[in-house]
Amino acid sequence: MPDSTLIDRFNRNLNYLRISITDRCNLKCLYCVPQDLIPKLPHHEILSYEEILRIVRVSIGLGISKVRITGGEPLVRKGVYHFLEKLAGTEGLQDISLTTNGVLLKDNIHKIKAAGIKRINISIDTLNREKFKQITGFDFFDQVWAGIELAQKTGFYPIKINVVPLKGVNDDELVDIARLSMTHPFHIRFIEYMPVGSIHMDIDRHFLAPEIKKHVEHLGELVPVDRSTNDGPAERFKFESGRGEIGFIRPISRHFCQTCNRLRLTASGQLRPCLMHDKQEDLKSIIRKGCSDRELAEVFLEAVRQKPLEHKLQKDHNAGSAVQMCTIGG
Ligand code: SAM
Repeated sequence: MPDSTLIDRFNRNLNYLRISITDRCNLKCLYCVPQDLIPKLPHHEILSYEEILRIVRVSIGLGISKVRITGGEPLVRKGVYHFLEKLAGTEGLQDISLTTNGVLLKDNIHKIKAAGIKRINISIDTLNREKFKQITGFDFFDQVWAGIELAQKTGFYPIKINVVPLKGVNDDELVDIARLSMTHPFHIRFIEYMPVGSIHMDIDRHFLAPEIKKHVEHLGELVPVDRSTNDGPAERFKFESGRGEIGFIRPISRHFCQTCNRLRLTASGQLRPCLMHDKQEDLKSIIRKGCSDRELAEVFLEAVRQKPLEHKLQKDHNAGSAVQMCTIGG
């Protein structure tokens, strides 16, 4: 096994692997899934759980300590709870989390807990049932909300709520959504919309963090929260009397590439050094040709060498990935 850790050309320590375990999703969010739906990958094109666990073990040997499971929608994949349990039992991982749209949360929260997952992010962009249908294509608001409440009762902490603010879609609700951080211990994460794949959303729909912040400050002053070592890219705040937090993830208005510590593994086994660049390393092919762990590690190191300094989205809105977000996992 090579003894170098995953330090890239710009001295960033890449210790965080985001793993998409499926390209399938039970929602069709208008900013994530293209209208002309891309064909789903056949099962044999998707990494098996055993293959993913092997990749994780090798990556831990190189310095990965933090893993997030995402999708598509991770909870639609058969066998996911058993996989999560095995992942949580993998020696050397310090942090395992899950990103879900919450549709299947209510009926499965105990399985997620029993598997050993403590932290979840739930994506929901509205508190209005009708609007939920418009954004996602499905009438699942009540069930997602019930899942969020149950996750809180079951002791998950922190529960992060991912929200993508879009003008003319949910901009009238941002104050109500932010207010949730006063009434609940939720960490609300406003994520700037990123133009990737073939979603051609009107650029005027962009709603950038400074403007969002101004909106939600109608509720009171946002006090900065000190950063801790395991923080992601969110700029964190809280209301004086808040039980939770408000965070802004600003890939467009102030990109955080210089502190990016991420690698991404797609469901089809491609290792991507950057969300916004389509350069990727094909782990699935070499695994299926019978590569050794050392050879697998070499490909990880090659992906690290390829990691670009930064994306160009803030200057050129067409400079993002050609691959859909629902394929990469966010
Ligand atoms: N199905 C899961 C979910 O909905 O959380 C996991 C996959 S989803 C791709 C992960 C995250 O990416 C979600 O929070 C979603 O809101 C976010 N996302 C998807 N497309 C995006 C885009 N174009 N810009 C910003 N965030 C996006």
